[in-house]
Amino acid sequence: MNLPLIIRAEEHSEKIAITTTDGSFTYRDLLHTSSQIATSLLQNTEDLQEERVAFLIPPGFEYVATQWGIWRAGGIAVPLCVSHPRPELEYVITNSGASIIVAHPNFEGILRSLSPQASLAEEHNLRFILTSETLPSNIARLPEVDITRRALILYTSGTTGKPKGVVTTHQNIQAQVTSLIAAWEWTSSDRILHILPLHHIHGIINVLTCALWAGAECHILSKFDSETVWRRICDGNLTLFMAVPTIYVKLITAWENASKERQKTMSEGCAKMRLMVSGSAALPVQVLEKWQNISGHFLLERYGMTEIGMALSNPLHGERLPGYVGKALPEVEVRLVDEKGLVPTGTPGEIQVKGPGVFLEYWQNPEATAKAFQDGWFCTGDTAVIENGSYRILGRMSVDIIKTGGYKVSALEIEEVLRSHPNIQECAVVGVADIEWGERVCAALVLQGLQPLTLESFRSWAKERLAVYKVPTQILIVEELPRNAMGKVTKPTVVELFK
Ligand code: AMP
Repeated sequence: MNLPLIIRAEEHSEKIAITTTDGSFTYRDLLHTSSQIATSLLQNTEDLQEERVAFLIPPGFEYVATQWGIWRAGGIAVPLCVSHPRPELEYVITNSGASIIVAHPNFEGILRSLSPQASLAEEHNLRFILTSETLPSNIARLPEVDITRRALILYTSGTTGKPKGVVTTHQNIQAQVTSLIAAWEWTSSDRILHILPLHHIHGIINVLTCALWAGAECHILSKFDSETVWRRICDGNLTLFMAVPTIYVKLITAWENASKERQKTMSEGCAKMRLMVSGSAALPVQVLEKWQNISGHFLLERYGMTEIGMALSNPLHGERLPGYVGKALPEVEVRLVDEKGLVPTGTPGEIQVKGPGVFLEYWQNPEATAKAFQDGWFCTGDTAVIENGSYRILGRMSVDIIKTGGYKVSALEIEEVLRSHPNIQECAVVGVADIEWGERVCAALVLQGLQPLTLESFRSWAKERLAVYKVPTQILIVEELPRNAMGKVTKPTVVELFK
């Protein structure tokens, strides 16, 4: 039996699945190209048997065909982030134990030759495939892939150490997707503009896989750019849009900078859509209100996480409350718990989640997996309260988890990298509230050594080692870090230093 996603695609074969600047591709094209990629991945084996296949491809048809090709060959897809520097890519490749890398030629350099000693592929004994290589014309017999098998590993930051690989099965993905399809009434007539990164759950599940499961059209931009997004919205043939609050802020700025006449066209484009969604970070009420004035849409805010898919959502029909994330989505159980157990309504507690969309495990990390669950419930580390029958997110339980532009980053992981700088003796990384980014990554540094540290050289040093959104945007040089009586750095006081 084929995977349900594939069987469904066969039913839509002549419909457009993906549109990019390279043109439009039907579901038949997607099925054909992904079967060619699966054949090439399989070489002469019958089934990849959950081998990890890392892929570094910009958002577009090739990305999707590769992801499907990996699944159809029985592999686990490990998407790499196009903006990650070499150390971060290497971490994901090594940690996932990938045996194959599929790369767009643009990334051949970073993957093959950045290391002075040897190429990354050679170092890790990887098979390296470029998307520009000719695909086989004879399609191999593809394996039967049971939905209980592992499908995807997404890397996400926890409070300690390096990011962990969140493993979801085909069944988990199916549950995450069908829950959203039911709640937001996706149909094959939908057309969504895809502007989100494709190494993160929001872009992969909520937008791409929901669209393809529904037989809808997914219009993919290879990267976000306010002007292009507005142009596409003005074209007026979209029905859905989903983004993080940072993107709505950027779109608001572009609208405000446009002429009156253009503003009118922009707003009319929005009015033609049936739904606009925000998530992955708290949506400030001012942003929600500004967007409503511009677009006529009261953004539907939802709450979710890489490990669980989406858990809470405001209703598609009915009243949406500003500052609230609604109720549990179909097939998802949510509860609030404190040290004493379940909390009564109106009392804050940790959000815990159960359901078929909850991930299988952290990749090769049974200890972390076990620690993340309490009596079968996944502990999110976020606190919320129920008021007026709706959940309100109060924030993360750890100050060491920062959400910036919708990305979850670990302050401790950034500190670990910063401490390896020869001029830095000590450091504390914190998130500072910001209307555009949700939180900005800020670092207080205690210096050592005689060499002066210029901010410019520090920034380029950090950029080589950290993804751009993890590079501190504001840096304070301090004599000492604030500490409590126990000698522990007090992060709330560090946050105050930046205000
Ligand atoms: P990620 O796994 O990168 O999607 O990050 C998940 C985290 O994003 C959650 O644990 C929350 O801390 C945060 N998050 C997601 N959606 C919302 C929301 N609507 N409001 C506030 N925080 C959110």
